[in-house]
Amino acid sequence: MISRAYVDKLLGMQAAGPSLLSLYLWIPLDPAELRGLSARADELFALAARDASEPGSGRPVRLGPAERDTVRRLLTAKARDWMGHTVAIFACVELGLNEAVPLPTRLQERAILATRPHVRPLLLAIQRCPAYRVVVADRRHAWLFSITGDEIRTAALPDAAGVRSHGFSGWYGLEAHRVNERVINLARHHYHDTAALLDRATRADGPEPLVIGGHEETIPEMLAALPVGLRDQVAGSFVVDPHILTPAKVRDLADRVIEGWLGRRDQQLLDEIRQEPPDGLAVTGLTACLDAARQHAIRLLAGPAGGLLPGYVCQRCGALSSDGDGCADGREASRPVPDLIEELTVRTLEDGGQVHTLRDPPAGIAALLRFPLAPA
Ligand SMILES: [Zn+2]
Repeated sequence: MISRAYVDKLLGMQAAGPSLLSLYLWIPLDPAELRGLSARADELFALAARDASEPGSGRPVRLGPAERDTVRRLLTAKARDWMGHTVAIFACVELGLNEAVPLPTRLQERAILATRPHVRPLLLAIQRCPAYRVVVADRRHAWLFSITGDEIRTAALPDAAGVRSHGFSGWYGLEAHRVNERVINLARHHYHDTAALLDRATRADGPEPLVIGGHEETIPEMLAALPVGLRDQVAGSFVVDPHILTPAKVRDLADRVIEGWLGRRDQQLLDEIRQEPPDGLAVTGLTACLDAARQHAIRLLAGPAGGLLPGYVCQRCGALSSDGDGCADGREASRPVPDLIEELTVRTLEDGGQVHTLRDPPAGIAALLRFPLAPA
């Protein structure tokens, strides 16, 4: 499963020239279509070479034969394991890089030749398919689930205090049981125990969205027991009778809650950008975002999912620009980059900011700022 740590590891790699290949390729579900994959990859390689070459420079960029072979070998050996997934492949002979990761969501296909791995799609996959936790509780039991990519792990939490625990030996179907008076009286204590265990999981593995499931009357009881820090992580809840629940059903119900939460988060971000006054803590459009990055002012970059915006980076001062004249060093000091949105993404992460993909960001790309920009 991909993580921010994996993205950071990739971003530590740098080739001398535009020889590092990043390939995002959809692997079809139909085995008969796998034979067409190499040809599809070749089409993407041709586009990548075009995007990486500076028009009129007489220095065309091409994918190296060794990188091409690496991709072919990986596809021949592994494509069957990746059917129904977009796979990300990173290859660079100079750096000894040769990695492939199947992704949990379908992404736009593209190939990029650059000096660094192209990570925008990886960040989008992490955003769309976050790891999250689910707690299902009734008055006597609680079950905790960790959901990461295709994987769902279950862990039982203790029964209500004072009630003998069954011990946990795999899934036992949120078994039917009688809820007696004593258990109801102890329920409050049990919710607090559950909250404490969730808190411990958060401390160990970091914060993750939390979904709460259970009876209509037990969800508010569970919520009320959560400390403030955990309550902020709650993405929503679903009503269900724990007796009829299976892990697959938990996943299905919780995924829908997470989907709604992701949509609300996008909307909140859009509102936040739109509500900022002019000259306030938001900018929209590529030019303003490039300016904000130069001033290390970006707190959150809101970019689009698709599309590449070719541009230039100055090799002396690092200035980014659409046409190579972003600084006093002029065009001669610049080298082309295939995607300015990727460059902005990396700068934002380097400055400790966040990156978020929106379906339709204001003016194509926007940013929330740490401080208002100095006049250009
Ligand atoms: Zn410069």
